[in-house]
Amino acid sequence: MARVLIIGAGGVGQVVVHKCAQVPEVFGEICLASRTIEKCREIASQIKRKIEIAQIDADNVPQLVALIRKFKPDVIVNVALPYQDIHIMDACLETGVHYLDTANYESPENPNFCYKWQWAYHRKFKERGIMALLGSGFDPGVTNVFTAWAQKKHFRRMDELDIIDCNAGNHGMPFATNFNPEINIREVTSKGCYFENGKWKTVDSLSVSENFYFPSNIGAKKIYLLYHEELESLVKNFKSIKKARFWMTFSESYLNHLKVLVNVGMTRIDEVDYRGVKIIPLQFLKTLLPDPASLGPFTKGKTCIGCHISGIGKDGKKKKYFIYNVCDHQKSYREVKSQAISYTTGVPAMIGAMLMVTGVWKKAGVFNMEQFDPEPFMEKLNEYGLPWKEVFL
Ligand code: NDP
Repeated sequence: MARVLIIGAGGVGQVVVHKCAQVPEVFGEICLASRTIEKCREIASQIKRKIEIAQIDADNVPQLVALIRKFKPDVIVNVALPYQDIHIMDACLETGVHYLDTANYESPENPNFCYKWQWAYHRKFKERGIMALLGSGFDPGVTNVFTAWAQKKHFRRMDELDIIDCNAGNHGMPFATNFNPEINIREVTSKGCYFENGKWKTVDSLSVSENFYFPSNIGAKKIYLLYHEELESLVKNFKSIKKARFWMTFSESYLNHLKVLVNVGMTRIDEVDYRGVKIIPLQFLKTLLPDPASLGPFTKGKTCIGCHISGIGKDGKKKKYFIYNVCDHQKSYREVKSQAISYTTGVPAMIGAMLMVTGVWKKAGVFNMEQFDPEPFMEKLNEYGLPWKEVFL
């Protein structure tokens, strides 16, 4: 039985704790550590099993090393913020513990998220005999596994990949983000970027949109082109892909509020002087916005996230295909007291950690999800609450 240290007591962390606690035969001991100990205590109080808790500043490597030496985890599940990734990886190297996260590193000063900083740790992790699994959430995460599954089962050659993320849920608030507001707004306000014929092409933020018809009574929705980190690893690991794009839906209310916030400067990430105090407008805005973890009781509706792939099938004929999961906000809340965005991220994080500690996915070095056999992960998605469907178009 494994010992798991979960870092980050936010919306996603809450789901990871619930889901790990549901599998005592794999996760024998669980510790939840985060910056604010009260949040760890609140999550631990929801669980019937004993959950250890600890206060930690995950940007402080010596503090991390001390906690790891005390709790002695087999794996660390990092569901704090992308800013902490490198510090936690450094602590894993020092202590020889496996690492998993759900979002790639970005520095607070620069929202250009890319894998180069974490991929640079590959040799060090390999020499240390430990594994890092990057991006084990839904997107990145399940979308990478869906693509690997499509390649393994259905396609001789994949030509075009569109990852489509729809949140058709409604929390009833004029403006709230469904995961960390700072990270969400940095992502959505960055330039859009996609891959075509070996080159990356950029477009202005939210300037490209299309209509897409979603299954499960969700219907037609406008989808907007964004840059998302899994595109970088997927076009590297599946060389036949000529075009790869990422799309997301937004409500009218979200887009209108965001436009105003951008225009008045509230999404800036540089320091401004306010009456002699230095503040970062986006961080100040975050303190005013609803905590995504608090949206669970109000959110109704479904998410639908999937991969639309075209290319040449195993039979040599042209093939178009959509593989997706639909997740219900209220059903998630009933199970783990969280809305579906946290649920769809936390479940794959638990599954990734489970495959690592049981030795099913095991290699020394730093890896993305699609570098492993997708089959055991796909089985566990069905088993642990994120069933998937395939449609041949
Ligand atoms: P939250 O803001 O709800 O939670 C983050 C938690 O990390 C908070 O409890 C916060 O502490 C804690 N934290 C932040 N900084 C530190 C630090 N220096 N030391 C210790 N703890 C810290 O975010 P979410 O739960 O919504 O998201 C968690 C992660 O999941 C993010 O990286 C996000 O990008 C990723 N994500 C990935 C998705 C995917 O599909 N791959 C989808 C959605 C999210 P405090 O409570 O004190 O603020």
